[in-house]
Amino acid sequence: MRPPEELRSDFPALSQAAHGHPLAYLDNAATTQKPRAVLDAVRSFYEKDYANVHRGLYDLSVRATEAFESSRRRVADFLEAASPEEIIFTRGTTEAINLLASSAGRSLLQHGDGVLLTEMEHHANLVPWQMLRSLGIRLHFLPVDDEQGTIDWNRVEEIAKKHRIRLLAFTHVSNSLGKVNPAAEICARARSLGLLSLVDAAQSAGHQHLSVREIGCDFLAFSGHKMCAPTGIGVLYGRQELLDLLPPYQTGGEMIAEVRLDQSSWKSPPHRFEAGTPNIGGAIGLRAAIDYLQTVGLDAVEKHTASLASYAASGLASIPGIRILGPRNHRAGIVSFVLDKVHAHDLVAFLDQEGLALRAGDHCNQPLLRKFGLAATARASFYLYNLREEVDRLIEAVEKTRRYFA
Ligand code: PLP
Repeated sequence: MRPPEELRSDFPALSQAAHGHPLAYLDNAATTQKPRAVLDAVRSFYEKDYANVHRGLYDLSVRATEAFESSRRRVADFLEAASPEEIIFTRGTTEAINLLASSAGRSLLQHGDGVLLTEMEHHANLVPWQMLRSLGIRLHFLPVDDEQGTIDWNRVEEIAKKHRIRLLAFTHVSNSLGKVNPAAEICARARSLGLLSLVDAAQSAGHQHLSVREIGCDFLAFSGHKMCAPTGIGVLYGRQELLDLLPPYQTGGEMIAEVRLDQSSWKSPPHRFEAGTPNIGGAIGLRAAIDYLQTVGLDAVEKHTASLASYAASGLASIPGIRILGPRNHRAGIVSFVLDKVHAHDLVAFLDQEGLALRAGDHCNQPLLRKFGLAATARASFYLYNLREEVDRLIEAVEKTRRYFA
């Protein structure tokens, strides 16, 4: 990988100061900064190739359609999907999971079926499934056994048999613990039990090599903005034969085959699930982000962020009164922590004064934090452009805050 010191120069936002210090952007699990290659691609598209897609017969619209559909092909290629028809553009992971839950609730899942989730799910992979309770679909949960994020995946079989589970939906990487779940192993287990699988890849897409072929999942969701692309664009991947069985999520223009006053028929996937004018510029930006990340090298990105996180976790561990969540080994680029007698919000407000941008809160993981007796943690999350010296500044600033409150 090009050295992170050099990669930083690709990201205009990173050269600014914060409270008189160089900005150390450590909130990448929330969203990532954008490289010039993405900003330029979006700008160039709007300047030269912009028109609505799939409608016009004039040259500009044909070009815009080609650019949009080539982004879909690029995503299919990135995920090693069998075909671009398996790629549905959405606003992000949240919309992708809402789409799947809403459509599956009216087709693949029947009254009395169960959906199996884990206790570490982001609200985006929990609340959409809760909405299906009114259809008689029941939710079940694999417990998280400790603050390291341990889940006993052997329990899937027993729960699946007892509760008529039809679908297993789990996060690939926990956004608050940094725990990496063995997605391929879990999906193989699901398949052997006849369960459908959904992988929430919001924290893994663009942070490591990701292949739906290798993982063997039925569905996978991710957000572009967490991997260098603009906001408002994301993806639901689904196996073709399953997408064919799903009814539309939203309806209107673009997704129909034929409309009569009393009834309509739908296009095939993926267009069936893309009602209305899509986020064309976002899709162009996503393609540029994939190009950028693949040039940097995703294996190297994964290694770099994991090494920063373990460096941060071991450095922070020496601070008296600190409690660090997440696995001791094999941690993704995320470190959540709490400091005795200091509220997480106060802590990150102090860190902000030192030019360090971190998130504090429940990270949309309320049930998990509640289980650990916490309402909020501070969270540092790393990406390809973060430096070891930023981690050193973080450790020093947390220690300074502790001394202030002591
Ligand atoms: N799932 C996980 C694991 C996440 O970390 C997030 C965002 O933080 C989401 C889902 C939701 O992503 P978005 O807000 O981009 O839809």
